[in-house]
Amino acid sequence: MVRAERVHKSFGPLKVLKGIDLEVAPREVFCLIGPSGSGKSTFLRCINHLEKINAGRLWVDGELVGYRQHRGKLYELKDREVASKRRDIGMVFQRFNLFPHMTALENVMEAPVHVKRESKASARERAMKLLDRVGLADKAPNYPSQLSGGQQQRVAIARALAMEPKLMLFDEPTSALDPELVGDVLDVMRGLAEDGMTMVVVTHEMGFAREVGDALVFMDDGVVVEAGHPREVLTNPQHERTKSFLSKVL
Ligand code: ADP
Ligand code: MG
Repeated sequence: MVRAERVHKSFGPLKVLKGIDLEVAPREVFCLIGPSGSGKSTFLRCINHLEKINAGRLWVDGELVGYRQHRGKLYELKDREVASKRRDIGMVFQRFNLFPHMTALENVMEAPVHVKRESKASARERAMKLLDRVGLADKAPNYPSQLSGGQQQRVAIARALAMEPKLMLFDEPTSALDPELVGDVLDVMRGLAEDGMTMVVVTHEMGFAREVGDALVFMDDGVVVEAGHPREVLTNPQHERTKSFLSKVL
């Protein structure tokens, strides 16, 4: 579903990604961990067409990000084409980013109605099912300010799912939450994983990585330091940098 080959990304003189190689298989829960500033969010943004890579190659669902192939030649995507690719990828951020002036239900219906031109009736029906799936059917008429952080984040997940993405990206989805609200969000993510959604998850929740993750990558300073099965990497890290990081977060 995702393949990175020697992916480099700089901001001016600042080299942020220094040759990332990795592969995410369909239906896999792929966890990405690493210290602050190591380039995790930047990498997610590259997958999601929000940043252009400087070197290397990056594919999502078999297609080179930012390009389309026509008669053996590569053409850079136009903005409109990029927007259409981005619709296939759901992203959930640390900050919930709901539209404050819309109810939970309206937040979930918004993109299907305005981007996909789905009828309101059909979008409403699907949105209600999605809110039910994240355990918030009873909060449909509530505004974000009337919801807890954990509830807002679950609405944000439902909103991303409403576009029926083939890939979900999570960027520290529980980092801004009070500890007692983290579990509900992780449970929703666990359910998604069980339903076979392909997920790339940047997280500090090592319990989630160990129990739900199929693969885990430790990134530091723009490189993949260590990769493997979560249980292996977390219980038996091979590199000093991984050991030192884990000793701080476990
Ligand atoms: P992480 O998510 O692992 O904490 P980030 O990918 O957010 O790391 O950031 C990696 C580095 O890239 C940081 O030094 C950050 O300041 C820098 N950076 C991220 N985005 C930009 C940008 N748009 N312009 C300049 N520097 C950036
Ligand atoms: Mg980040």
